[in-house]
Amino acid sequence: MKTIGLIGGMSWESSLEYYKIINETVKSKLGGLHSSKCIMYSVDFEEIELLQHQGRWEELSDIMVNISKELKKAGADFILICTNTMHKMADDIENKAGIKVLHIAEVTGKKIVEKGLKKVGLLGTKFTMEQDFYKKVLEDKFNIEVVVPNEADREVIHEVIYKELCKGIISEESKEKYKKVINSLLLNGAEGIVLGCTEIPLLIKQEDVSVPVFDTTTIHAIAAVEFALDK
Ligand code: GLU
Repeated sequence: MKTIGLIGGMSWESSLEYYKIINETVKSKLGGLHSSKCIMYSVDFEEIELLQHQGRWEELSDIMVNISKELKKAGADFILICTNTMHKMADDIENKAGIKVLHIAEVTGKKIVEKGLKKVGLLGTKFTMEQDFYKKVLEDKFNIEVVVPNEADREVIHEVIYKELCKGIISEESKEKYKKVINSLLLNGAEGIVLGCTEIPLLIKQEDVSVPVFDTTTIHAIAAVEFALDK
C-alpha cells in the first residue's frame, strides 16, 4: 500500500470527509482491520484564505511546494490536495517538489466520461469557476464542455463556501440558493453538475439535483485509495 500525503485544512471540514472516506474505502476493499497509510499536513486556513483573496498565488505556490517536500520527506508516495482551488499549484508541486499529484479534476473528468456526459456545470470558488487551471483539464484532457454560473450567481456560490461551508454552517436557505443556480446551469444545457469545491457535498446531495452530480471529495478520496492499492 502506498502512503498518501494529504494537504488538508482547506478547510478542515472537508479534510475530515477525506480521512473518513479514505479509511472506509480501504476497509471495504481489504477488510479486517486494514486502514489507510497516510500523512496529513493541515494548514491554518485563515492564512491561506487571506493570500487567496489578495491574489498572492506565487506565495501560495511556495507554501504548497514546501508542504509537499515535507510530506515527501516524511514518506508520502504521492500528494492529495484536499481542495479543488489549490490545484492551481498542482504542476508547481510536481515540478518543484518532484512528487506525483493525483489531480482532482482528472479523476473527476474520468467519471464524467464514464457517465457519457459532454457538458457539465461547474460550481466552486470564484477562483475555480473563473480561472483556467481547472476547466482546462476537463476541456482539454476530456473534451468536456464546462459552463459556469453568471457573475452574480458565482458571487453567491463563493460567499456561501467561505462564510458558511468552511465554518461548518449548513443552511436550508443556502441550499435553496444553490439549487436555483444549478437550475440555471441546467437551462444552459448542463447534463451534470460538478461539485467542484470539497465542501459543497456537505450542502448539496444527489437527491437535490435531477441530473448526475459529481462529488469531487468522494471521487478524489476513492481514487486515492485505488491508486494507493494499485500494484
Ligand atoms: N475546499 C474548497 C475547494 O475545494 C475551497 C477552499 C479553498 O479555497 O481551498 O476549492
